[in-house]
Amino acid sequence: MVIVMKLGATEQQIEHVVDRLRQVGLREHISEGEERTLIGAIGDERVLQTVPLEALSGVERVIPVLAPYKLASREFQSEDTVIGISGGVNGVEIGGKRVVVMAGPCAVESAEQIITIAGLVKQAGAVILRGGAYKPRTGPYSFQGLGDDGLVLLAAARKQTGLPVITEVMTLEDIDLVGGYTDVFQIGARNMQNFMLLKGVGQTKKPVMLKRGMSATIEEFLLAAEYILSQGNTRVMLCERGIRTFETYTRNTLDINAVPALKALTHLPVIVDPSHGTGRRELVPAVSRAAIAAGADGLLMEVHHDPENSLTGDGAQSLLPDQFSQLMEQLERIAQAVGRSLLPQKEVASAFTGGWSGTLT
Ligand code: PEP
Ligand code: MN
Repeated sequence: MVIVMKLGATEQQIEHVVDRLRQVGLREHISEGEERTLIGAIGDERVLQTVPLEALSGVERVIPVLAPYKLASREFQSEDTVIGISGGVNGVEIGGKRVVVMAGPCAVESAEQIITIAGLVKQAGAVILRGGAYKPRTGPYSFQGLGDDGLVLLAAARKQTGLPVITEVMTLEDIDLVGGYTDVFQIGARNMQNFMLLKGVGQTKKPVMLKRGMSATIEEFLLAAEYILSQGNTRVMLCERGIRTFETYTRNTLDINAVPALKALTHLPVIVDPSHGTGRRELVPAVSRAAIAAGADGLLMEVHHDPENSLTGDGAQSLLPDQFSQLMEQLERIAQAVGRSLLPQKEVASAFTGGWSGTLT
């Protein structure tokens, strides 16, 4: 249920509506629009049958939200959510006019590796650095990531390049630690329905990128986002990373349909990961171009300067730095064609001066 307040409704009128919701055991989610305040009622709405919400002063309309996800729905909020990323030196916004590229290795493997790749992706125009410190590997004997040391190296790469970072948090217990280093929490596909973890990041104020579970429907994906939103964190973005189908030529089947479908169903930014979506670097450029043409707000891409020796199994889907920079030029043209832009200002891209210096500052 969304309660639309009248233009110029007073604080007291809003508080009164909130009190009535709380009296019947519901919680409120207040969204201050440019013109009006919207109040979402959270909880089992059947209790509202006895509350004459439409009669309360300052209330213009009460709209039932039909979708099972409420706060994530376009019915609840028609304007796009734009998420400001505060870490790093240059402000980055996700969900606005500019398409955002997040790039880096699958996993942080060493100081030399992450700082070299960070510098290269920044020069090519990426605005957020990706890299896993904790890796959710299918087998227990595969490289599991550098863990805490990986977080420290990501922070060093951020310091050296000014790029904000995104990294995966896998457990509830790690939220505080990972949150101390990262600018965006990544929730991996395998954890999309780890509801305790979703609630945990929902209780923080940091942006969260939620990856689609490999067998999740669009509705399940949105309900997972709803778990985070329902805890008060409004800074959520969704990432389509391919789903399981009968096809084995590619690692996953990137569901391009999900991009316009999600843009219609939700106000949350939509990111596409063509690396896990294909599993093959030769397919990444075309799928990236398609994603932007389909309306994605950003891309998450794996880039490695030495994929042959990468410690994760994701070398085959990682672009080489030169391929990545060529692709970025093409993507700028696609972005322009759909009324957006992608590359940062040249002076921002050239602000990176350092190479790997051998010491962490
Ligand atoms: C990743 O981004 O490296 C990753 C593990 O992705 P996913 O959770 O989509 O498999
Ligand atoms: Mn990976």
